[in-house]
Amino acid sequence: MPDIISLLPDHVANQIAAGEVVQRPSSVVKELLENAVDAGSTDIHLIVQDAGKTLIQVVDNGKGMTYGDARLAFERHATSKIKLADDLFNLHTMGFRGEALASIAAVAQVEMKTRPHTDEVGTILRIEGSKVVEQKACQTAAGTSISVKNLFFNIPARRQFLKSDNVENRHIIDAFEHVALAYPNVAFRFTQNDTEIFHLPSGNFRQRITSVFGKKYNERLVPVEETTDVVKLEGFVLKPEFARKTRGEQFFFVNDRFIKNGYLHHAVSHAFEHLIKGEEYPSYFLYMQIDPKRIDVNIHPTKTEIKFDDEKAIYAIIRSAVKHSLGQFNVAPSLDFDS
Ligand code: ADP
Ligand code: MG
Repeated sequence: MPDIISLLPDHVANQIAAGEVVQRPSSVVKELLENAVDAGSTDIHLIVQDAGKTLIQVVDNGKGMTYGDARLAFERHATSKIKLADDLFNLHTMGFRGEALASIAAVAQVEMKTRPHTDEVGTILRIEGSKVVEQKACQTAAGTSISVKNLFFNIPARRQFLKSDNVENRHIIDAFEHVALAYPNVAFRFTQNDTEIFHLPSGNFRQRITSVFGKKYNERLVPVEETTDVVKLEGFVLKPEFARKTRGEQFFFVNDRFIKNGYLHHAVSHAFEHLIKGEEYPSYFLYMQIDPKRIDVNIHPTKTEIKFDDEKAIYAIIRSAVKHSLGQFNVAPSLDFDS
């Protein structure tokens, strides 16, 4: 019998891997914004047309790439962020898998312009379905601009399964908010179908939350703060009367990364016990800093789930810190000496 096993060609492997990283337009938005942040940008502009189905563009003023790096950036497992497996436990970047650009380029038509601040000439690179169509020197602003056009142009089945513009836009806004809330010191803009829908100047956490959700949030936010050996916790919960029947404003960040965690959500809900109705969800923006050695972010390609060494301790700390803050807030009305 002849051998029947062969190695998949790169473009096929890339397309298969892309399925994990690029599920829908919002996945591209997340990856491009995270790359812009990792590049040290202070100003990031997201431009989206037709719910990301025709265009997703991110323009940053970060460190840019050389001619050689511009090409390598689109290879699978090509990254400037880690060198050794151990680096995963001393991680200070959002990315590290070196998969996003390769995956995106496997399923879209990509144009990138990039220039390091110290170089006079930049690079333009076009790549479609993993094939480099063009790469040459060009004049361009310092930083990087990546345009992702016609997502899933070469996988009709995936393109067909995209949801309505409303649904895809909601996912895109979520992805944008997750990064924008994690990095208040970076200025962000978001232009959707030629209308600017977010313009976020740099500031602190409170300023970022109110520029995303509106000035009315200023009176709604109750500060939460606690520092222990395990975790440094800061952020806000919304006053109990603003709890809602729908989910939506539950934000945990660990080392500047938005994460989902049902167990820790329960810790906050527990602290709100008797203050909100059983069917209501508390709203919160809680930022944790944890020693990277004590978490594992590499359990899922999109990294929104992470593993903690001390999950129980963190649960207890969140619950008691939130309870404490709510207690202080509830005491406040009795300190009204005006009358
Ligand atoms: P990862 O972020 O995991 O390293 P990516 O595929 O997202 O993998 O990016 C590959 C590499 O391309 C990055 O490690 C980085 O060196 C470079 N890169 C990507 N986006 C940018 C950007 N906006 N500015 C500068 N360099 C970038
Ligand atoms: Mg990346």
